[in-house]
Amino acid sequence: MTEVRTLTRRSALKRLALGVALAPVAAASWRQAAAADDGALPLLSVDAPEAKSVKYVENAAQAKGKVPDSSCANCGLYQGATGSTQGPCQLFPGKAVKAAGWCSSWAAQL
Ligand code: SF4
Repeated sequence: MTEVRTLTRRSALKRLALGVALAPVAAASWRQAAAADDGALPLLSVDAPEAKSVKYVENAAQAKGKVPDSSCANCGLYQGATGSTQGPCQLFPGKAVKAAGWCSSWAAQL
């Protein structure tokens, strides 16, 4: 015997409301997991070829020709938690960059 379940408009709205209510919790959990992972990633070496190719430095104050006040911490590709000292960068998978760092691929956050 099979049970036929119909999704009423009311139950669909309840599920939608539950999903919307839980979204911030899921996002916070993801951010905490990402922050926990930040320390696990090895730091990108400034001497690595991929770092040199984009003039990566660990201290943005040492960068030449950068957008004023730009650093990894306010780059759109930086994935570290807010206030972190280092974190993942989309440009260098599997590596962490210094939040105070900078490279020529810096992009404004959207
Ligand atoms: S892309 Fe952005 S976050 Fe990554 S190293 Fe360059 S400035 Fe830093």
